[in-house]
Amino acid sequence: MRHAPVFVITGPSGAGKGTLIKALVERIPALEVAISATTRPQRPGETDGVEYHFLDEEPFVARIAEGAFLEHVEYVSGKRYGTLQSEMQRVADDGRVCVLELELDGALRVQESVPGSVTLFIAAPVEELERRLRDRATESTGEIGARIELARHQLEQAHNFRYMVRNDDVERATGSLCAIVEQELEFAATMTPS
Ligand code: 5GP
Repeated sequence: MRHAPVFVITGPSGAGKGTLIKALVERIPALEVAISATTRPQRPGETDGVEYHFLDEEPFVARIAEGAFLEHVEYVSGKRYGTLQSEMQRVADDGRVCVLELELDGALRVQESVPGSVTLFIAAPVEELERRLRDRATESTGEIGARIELARHQLEQAHNFRYMVRNDDVERATGSLCAIVEQELEFAATMTPS
């Protein structure tokens, strides 16, 4: 039996995943982004329940113990991020196809454990990654240094994922991303018995 697709967008911090995903869901209304939970502090302009469900350490750990997460990781500076099963269910209940934005370890875990998952790695030139991370500049200098180092290392792991999209030009990259997703949706629809 074929499973409904789940699109997993991954890649280094600063590769522009957020911008591309926003454009993707605007162009393909069948898609909906699952909102992750995190223990990292809210950035200016972010709203609880929109970009993330912001949780303190204790409730996050309690939800891990309950088995509430499809996957969860500890990322830079020990901050936790995780995909709630309830969010995936919410998207399915809306009759939509789920999009997850995950760092690499979470994306690999979903690729291995969720039938129908389609992973897309967003890459960007190293100089561009560094520039975006410095522009963001909400973290302390030390943390930005750690993020840049991690981003460089992560760029070398693109081959572990199904597709790679190079984000050197947002318009072109959005076009490539949409074409891949549309093709996968078409394939899934063709293979699903009516
Ligand atoms: P940021 O703190 O910049 O919002 O996100 C840091 C990283 O965490 C990004 O690479 C983002 O894709 C990843 N991320 C966000 N939510 C999740 C999640 O639920 N699980 C995993 N594994 N990574 C996540």
